[in-house]
Amino acid sequence: SLEAQGIHLAFGANKVLRGIDLTVPAGTTASVIGPSGSGKSTLLRVMNRLIEPDAGDILLDGKSVLRDNPDELRRRIGMVFQQFNLFPHKSVGENVAFALRKLRGLSKDQAREEALAQLDLVGLKHKADVRPATLSGGQQQRVAIARALAMKPEVMFFDEATSALDPELVKGILALMTDLAKGGMTMVVVTHEMGFSRNVSDTVTFMDGGVAVESGPPGQVFDAPQTERLKRFLSDVL
Ligand code: ATP
Ligand code: MG
Repeated sequence: SLEAQGIHLAFGANKVLRGIDLTVPAGTTASVIGPSGSGKSTLLRVMNRLIEPDAGDILLDGKSVLRDNPDELRRRIGMVFQQFNLFPHKSVGENVAFALRKLRGLSKDQAREEALAQLDLVGLKHKADVRPATLSGGQQQRVAIARALAMKPEVMFFDEATSALDPELVKGILALMTDLAKGGMTMVVVTHEMGFSRNVSDTVTFMDGGVAVESGPPGQVFDAPQTERLKRFLSDVL
């Protein structure tokens, strides 16, 4: 399981996270929804220690990771962003192989072989030798997902992974994420895709103003919202 406990974070006077708790049992998918600026991306960044919180704890399998080497944690948590963040001057295959060599210490040949196997799983083995820019947005996002999965992470984070995609490409990426979730991956998914949140995730957390305002199974959060803030948000997005 992955747990955030009492996370506080301020950027100067801007209190972006104000006591966030999030528990993601192993093998489940937690989606995080909420308006722009509510702190969703910042929460993910704190949970994989791209930013250190001012207070609170992060636990993986019940053990605090805040004193571990952050690189170690980032090996255990794969992250997929809105803007794919692929290396433009490396081939697709090298994009996937790079971290395998650098962080997992595989030889060049081993890394290549592993990269091709991962690309095969997302249907892009045949694109291994081209540059990312020659691919569609949906294909680039598949490469980013393959790159993250190649590290054999225990947890996957997705931050608006479909927001930059043309509408016709969104479905394919959501299907890939759904397969991962059904396959037992532990996932935290920040998303504007309410269909995915409702139908695929085990729990939904609604954030507003740096607070987890409501959290629960999709049926509860979507069909029986308790607060005016969530009711208003849902009526705006649904
Ligand atoms: P969106 O849906 O637009 O992606 P979000 O919920 O992901 O929004 P965050 O990106 O987490 O929101 O931002 C929350 C707040 O933190 C915003 O007020 C933002 O301006 C501020 N913020 C985020 N990153 C930084 C930073 N590196 N330095 C200063 N302020 C930041
Ligand atoms: Mg964001």
